[in-house]
Amino acid sequence: MDTEELVESVESGELRLHELEQHADAETAAAARRRLLVERTEADLDAVGDYTFDAADAESAIENMVGAAQVPMGIVGPIRIDGGAVEGTRYLPLATTEGALVASVNRGCAAMRAADGATARVLKNAMTRAPVFRVADVGEASEVASWVRANVDALAEAAESTTSHGELRDVTPYVVGDNVFLRFAYDTKDAMGMNMATIATEAACEVVTAETPAELVALSGNLCSDKKPAAINSIEGRGRTVAADVEIPRETVEGYFETTPEAIVEANTRKNLVGSAKAGSLGFNAHAANTVAAAFLATGQDIAQVVEGSNAITTADVRDGYLYASITFSSLEVGTVGGGTKLPTQAEALDVVGVSGGGDPAGSNADALAEVIATAALGGELSLLGALASNHLASAHEELGR
Ligand code: NAP
Repeated sequence: MDTEELVESVESGELRLHELEQHADAETAAAARRRLLVERTEADLDAVGDYTFDAADAESAIENMVGAAQVPMGIVGPIRIDGGAVEGTRYLPLATTEGALVASVNRGCAAMRAADGATARVLKNAMTRAPVFRVADVGEASEVASWVRANVDALAEAAESTTSHGELRDVTPYVVGDNVFLRFAYDTKDAMGMNMATIATEAACEVVTAETPAELVALSGNLCSDKKPAAINSIEGRGRTVAADVEIPRETVEGYFETTPEAIVEANTRKNLVGSAKAGSLGFNAHAANTVAAAFLATGQDIAQVVEGSNAITTADVRDGYLYASITFSSLEVGTVGGGTKLPTQAEALDVVGVSGGGDPAGSNADALAEVIATAALGGELSLLGALASNHLASAHEELGR
């Protein structure tokens, strides 16, 4: 069918809006939907329809496609990193509509570059899925938990039969009355791994239900915990647990941020530590989610996982002649294969970082991406803390008349 025929079929009730791809290619279907939407809403969709990728390539990423949302992309760097997976300098594309964000992160990265760069390491790699099972009572719950602890190898065999990359690292049982949750944790290599972990966990659950009295209620029991604020991710980690730190000489701090290491440390303590504690926040940082969200948008990550990506603690200290600063993300969920990473602009952005596709060894590209994002986020933390501290200093100077 052509666009006109598709539009007529929807208007006559013969076809529903989401059925168009069954009768036309993806491009024609999207054009027909835009035509219908323009008629029904009087919106102008010229910009939405002006995209460059092949609609067919987006079929696994979107349903009911009408076009594309475009977000401006900027660049920060070079970011100098001594990492476990990255050595040298990298650029990081950031897609955002928040003016000043790219400039702010870039200022922090420049200061770190002037200080000979940051150190970064992935400390843990564990994508989780936690199904919930029904049991008769706490006695049975205890039996199931014991069986699981004794049979992790059998569960790993079943789980790993579904994937050539994923490896089951751990299964932790949690009991709440007649509920048993099993938190499966996987090394998903270069994939963010949520589909991979879900499929693998389904296979492992079949073993659990065959060998124990537990009955599966839901493949995801929210103890995973995906896309919800959750202390378990802050404590146990999810995806990559990654940290970056830097030592910046006093004169570099003063040159780049127009403030002192002491003022930055005080701002960090009172704002990021005390303020966050008082607020009951899981994120003890200034604005780590800003860098994470912009990097996720640019590089095709699952944007809703910014929730977990905001679980970061920023520390700052004055050392002999230096400002020491660090950021530790407990649950940064990134991939360089799968999901939105293969869309053209996202793949190009990953190419800019130098991490598109599978790494050698597998997992090294996603590790590198995590280290680059963490380091850029540290730059963002330093820049905002510096801005706050220098404003504070400026007003204090004004008040004190000096
Ligand atoms: P995926 O595209 O479903 O799986 C990754 C694929 O890449 C696997 O088929 C894997 O093959 C393959 N692969 C090739 N080279 C690899 C390498 N070097 N390292 C790792 N894998 C490699 O992506 P995913 O990361 O598992 O899941 C991400 C998607 O899940 C996103 O679209 C996200 O929006 C969505 N998501 C799903 C859920 C859910 O509950 N299902 C929840 C949240 C988000 P093998 O497996 O054969 O090794």
